[in-house]
Amino acid sequence: MGLTGIQIFKLLPKTNCGECGVPTCLAFAMNLASGKAELDSCPYVSDEAKDQLAEASAPPIRPVAIGAGVRAFKIGGETVLFRHEKTFYNPTGLAAMVTSDMDSKALDKKLKEWNALQYERVGLNLRPELVALKDVNGDGAAFASAAKKIAEETEFGLILMSDNMDTMKAGVEACASKKPLLYAATADNAEDMGNLANDAGLPLALKADNIDGLITLSDQLTGMGLKDLVLDSGSREMKQVFEDQVGIRRAPLKEGNRSLGFPTITFPCEMAGNLDMETVVASMLIAKYAGIVVLSDFRGDSLFPLLLERLNIYTDPQRPMTVTQGIYEIGAPDKNSPVLVTTNFSLTYFIVSGEIEGSRVPSWLLIMDTEGLSVMTAWAAGKFSGDVVGMFVKKCGIADKVAHKTIVIPGYAAAISGDMEEELPDWDIKIGPRDASLIPKFLKDLAK
Ligand code: SF4
Repeated sequence: MGLTGIQIFKLLPKTNCGECGVPTCLAFAMNLASGKAELDSCPYVSDEAKDQLAEASAPPIRPVAIGAGVRAFKIGGETVLFRHEKTFYNPTGLAAMVTSDMDSKALDKKLKEWNALQYERVGLNLRPELVALKDVNGDGAAFASAAKKIAEETEFGLILMSDNMDTMKAGVEACASKKPLLYAATADNAEDMGNLANDAGLPLALKADNIDGLITLSDQLTGMGLKDLVLDSGSREMKQVFEDQVGIRRAPLKEGNRSLGFPTITFPCEMAGNLDMETVVASMLIAKYAGIVVLSDFRGDSLFPLLLERLNIYTDPQRPMTVTQGIYEIGAPDKNSPVLVTTNFSLTYFIVSGEIEGSRVPSWLLIMDTEGLSVMTAWAAGKFSGDVVGMFVKKCGIADKVAHKTIVIPGYAAAISGDMEEELPDWDIKIGPRDASLIPKFLKDLAK
């Protein structure tokens, strides 16, 4: 069990220097106990105290890093069962599988297709992280060659899947610098696989037939000094996998069971007969705690919704995604270009700016700070009322950039136009469309 704030406080320097970002050691101790601070934030903790505090500051589910380079990512590190309690931290890794008997050209083609599946959304690049390479014939040379190709010619991280130790060793030698996840240690090979992962400093997945088997394996491998483990409960049946996922998440959080305090790996590709059904299964598993989901393929129409679901679930529910208040130039606007105003909710900004860009009508977009609320919510909360928006337009400096006094407000905020007219008596307030997709037509009509 973790230490209490007072127990942690006794181990801190008690100088109240404030370098950790809070004014006192006691406040830092309380934050540490509730998982709101990292021990590294205090530069003055002694090594002895660090050891004692390690347990208190470690998340109940260990964060495990996989891969190297731009698609490196972490799984685990979660502290709550439900995201509204705090937030989920490390998004589910998305993997697709290739087999070691694939010929080089087919593998090239597949990797190229998968690499192209990247999407811009709310200023983020959404893309999958992993390729799972499965040994299907014990051919170590072919396995190593494919692992090398994936590691050296793509940005993807790797899951190396083999139960043949020689094949696995060949794979590790080919791509160890890419920090692959090894899959999997079982009751039959735990010692050998554990030694290989230990020597190479790589994360290791464990596969058992049930949760009890996982606990036994996990204890055996942590006893060998392994820390970065990933759990597969072995079930490929929907109801059982769901129960296992929930059980594995609950055990460390609610019962202090450290044996199950690791992220999980799941295999929709072994639970359904086609990619559409796999996608449905994957969507359930992303929502219910999977650290990694492995699909049989990446295809845009199934991957994109999964990426969006993942983005939504792993966005901090207590902190709306925002953009900075200010005047944004879309295209190369001049003094005659239209002026539009909206809120600073990221999604609103990126949708509206994307539609303006698509219209090819260079425009000024005024983004007002509404604490990340969308137009209707901000309006309902009084943060996007006519007088407030009017004040913002006056102060933001747009009047110095344009030679006209016409401003377009969102269609959903039409009700604020009267108050805006009072606040901006010399401006012409135009009501824009409700649906952002109609912005291009609206701007073109306005330009006429
Ligand atoms: Fe105390 Fe360390 Fe924070 Fe300074 S940095 S206030 S010593 S906890």
